[in-house]
Amino acid sequence: METGELSTTPLTIAIDGPSGSGKSSVSKAVARSLGLSYLDTGAMYRAATWWCLHTGVALDDADAVAATVRAMPLVMGVDPAAPTVTVDGTDVGEAIRETTISAAVSAVATNLEVRAELGRLQRAAIEEAGQPGSFSEGRGIVAEGRDITTVVAPDADVRVLLTASEEARLRRRSLEVHGAADEAAVEATRDQVLRRDADDSTVVQFHVAADGVVTVDSSDLDFDQTVQAVLDVVANRG
Ligand code: C5P
Repeated sequence: METGELSTTPLTIAIDGPSGSGKSSVSKAVARSLGLSYLDTGAMYRAATWWCLHTGVALDDADAVAATVRAMPLVMGVDPAAPTVTVDGTDVGEAIRETTISAAVSAVATNLEVRAELGRLQRAAIEEAGQPGSFSEGRGIVAEGRDITTVVAPDADVRVLLTASEEARLRRRSLEVHGAADEAAVEATRDQVLRRDADDSTVVQFHVAADGVVTVDSSDLDFDQTVQAVLDVVANRG
């Protein structure tokens, strides 16, 4: 390091929560505000699902799925202003948000060998964000998902569980997916949100904060208030 250059200790912020808790948009805003990289680990599970469907592997063949995911040429772009997901040179950012992927992702995410492999890639991305030449220039990263506070980065500097009532989560996802939050739209979203969380809960625990994890309940907060609540947790860290 040159004399006079500021040295920074990289900051790792881990944010977990169920679907519809707002964790992706909140995590991106927190990362932008602090000049950190951003890692959407849900997008990695979605990309793995897209890749399995693309290559035609049977999702119930656990060994084949694990081998396929281990061979996946995945590149995650960690700029919170424009995160990208690329598999084998194809930008899959939009494709991985489609209903077919949302409906199939739990089958891939409950494969323990897949979890081990993606967890390894996630730890490598967190490590990389602490390096001087990285996107954040070594300032660190906000990594969000379901098991970041507990399994992937239990030693993160800041660990937050972002929750919201079932009603608030259904309303938000319904607005996002259907552009409406009337009764029919909420009903149509119910499977996507609640069934997926129920399936995911069989292998990861993200409804109750683990020891040392701070809960932020966004049910009665708007977006800016939620971002501020997380920034407050960062500012008040021990
Ligand atoms: O957050 P998002 O809805 O994009 O996550 C998609 C899926 O990825 C989840 O339903 C879950 O199956 C899986 N996931 C996971 N562990 C994580 C992040 C996401 O199992 N850390």
